Amino acid sequence: MQKAARTRSAHSAPTYEAAQSVVDAIHQRLDFRRPPFRFEEFLSAHDAYKVFEVDLPLGLDGRIFLTPDGEQKTIHLRKDNTRPRLRFTLAHEIIHAELHFAQGHLRDLTACRTVEHAQGQRPQLEREADFGAAALLMPLWMLDEALPYRLRHDYPDTVVREMSRIFRVSETAMKIQLKRYTSHDGDFHRPYS
Ligand SMILES: [Zn+2]
Repeated sequence: MQKAARTRSAHSAPTYEAAQSVVDAIHQRLDFRRPPFRFEEFLSAHDAYKVFEVDLPLGLDGRIFLTPDGEQKTIHLRKDNTRPRLRFTLAHEIIHAELHFAQGHLRDLTACRTVEHAQGQRPQLEREADFGAAALLMPLWMLDEALPYRLRHDYPDTVVREMSRIFRVSETAMKIQLKRYTSHDGDFHRPYS
């Protein structure tokens, strides 16, 4: 049984449901209804987190360390990165803590975010953390409200730029999330009743 469950989750892409539930819970707790996502509010509601902007080696955007009981979560962000990139990395590390630590995946109590490499797939935990970070900062239902019109193909650069400004993310991150938006069936789930 155990083995079958593990094999299935390793091969099926939508293990993203767990990441989405974590994100929905955070949005509900903070009553997040309008962009941009405000980390000050998240951090004041979650005092287990300590965030520092520090020098990190090139190629390393951020990392998180947890105490064994998960009571203390320390995040280091590469201070030379742009603000939108810092925000995405912070969101990524939060998903590692709220999802992967809770699921028992962070056995060595640490995780990081490295610059993507063109060749090869990012590991599953990294893709989940990126998915969760994007969902935390740019929920599809909120994009749907903010966009001037709905397209089923790529948005023009002017729209991408404006959306990235409103949501305080990089244009690259916005483009990736807009791909999820345009290929979605349009029934956007809101975490509020
Ligand atoms: Zn990571």
